[in-house]
Amino acid sequence: MPGSATRPGELVFAAPRRVKPPRHLADLAPAERRDVVSELGEKPFRAGQLAAHYFGRLGEDPDQMTDVPKAARARLAEALLPPLLTPVRHLDCDGGRTRKTVWRLFDGATVESVLMRYPRRVTMCVSSQAGCGMNCPFCATGQAGLTRNMSAAEIVDQVVAGARMLQRGEIAGGPARVSNVVFMGMGEPMANYKAVIGAVRRLTDAAPDGLGMSQRNVTVSTVGLVPAMEKLTAEGLSVTLALSLHAPDDELRDELVPVNTRWKVAEVLDAAHRYFEVTGRRVSIEYALIRDINDHRWRADLLGTELNRRGRGWVHVNPIPLNPTPGSKWTASDPEVERTFVERLRAHGIPTTVRDTRGREIDGACGQLAAVTPAGEVTP
Ligand code: SAH
Repeated sequence: MPGSATRPGELVFAAPRRVKPPRHLADLAPAERRDVVSELGEKPFRAGQLAAHYFGRLGEDPDQMTDVPKAARARLAEALLPPLLTPVRHLDCDGGRTRKTVWRLFDGATVESVLMRYPRRVTMCVSSQAGCGMNCPFCATGQAGLTRNMSAAEIVDQVVAGARMLQRGEIAGGPARVSNVVFMGMGEPMANYKAVIGAVRRLTDAAPDGLGMSQRNVTVSTVGLVPAMEKLTAEGLSVTLALSLHAPDDELRDELVPVNTRWKVAEVLDAAHRYFEVTGRRVSIEYALIRDINDHRWRADLLGTELNRRGRGWVHVNPIPLNPTPGSKWTASDPEVERTFVERLRAHGIPTTVRDTRGREIDGACGQLAAVTPAGEVTP
């Protein structure tokens, strides 16, 4: 502001300036892309050529856009295809079928994605925030707090990067496509609603406007931010909703998922059930099994009762053996206790499947993603 010069030293204590990630094609709906291209003095149809390059051919080098006049290529690429993710490292396991990648964003923040190849599908687990503000005590990401929201394009670019790895044959099993995306990396997707919905649209818009994936193959996982769940219900998408419940009773859930103090078990289950009623999509309940904490028989029974109280056939449960985070006092349930927990739920008629722990050795499994230290360095 004129006349309000800061004294020397004052800036040192100022909050870091928040700079937005560079604008990218994947932040914009097709009409918005045409507007930007027009503003640059180019024909609007060039927007479609850029999209065909990025989403259709998974192109990286603007010079491969041979349908765009050479003079315009660099300018359009600079305006709409800035590089967003720099790989810091790849960690492979499962004979090259699982790959975790640590990415550096434009401002030095780091996030992780995990590509998992199965016989009939390829799943990309993506981050939606650098860090996470939900503070769940058993989750590695939660321990470092929230750095910032990711842009829609930063989210989408993780999937495009994974698709390129598959295209280039870097993942064991030969070339393939990404068939599934799960928002189960770092961050709480419903706390970054707008960017996440934008990303879902880009992933599922028909090629070449988007990646052309099936909405049914996209899973959005949430701690249970009820107003955002309600918004998602009204969005008209058929994505799969996963709810990280981890306890059927408020007393324990208040501790395991601190946001439960704001939206209680009954409210989040009601919101999840409404999602099913409106979309017809079966909801997934995630339940990390923690030894002697939440793995009791009575809790399995209470969960079964609470789910059945709201109806039949609307939900399935995904118990996940806890992946202990470094320094945690908690560990996974005994296999026998896990079996009993699953049996109890099935006895209530609830379809239940234990989540696999792909990527465990490379700290790429559920809840282990934690690329950032406060200094912004990559942890070993
Ligand atoms: N914030 C979202 C999505 C990210 S986590 C959410 O919480 O749903 C994806 C899943 O991994 C969530 O169900 C989360 O509770 C679970 N998870 C987190 N830490 C874990 C751990 N240490 N072991 C097993 N699962 C964990």
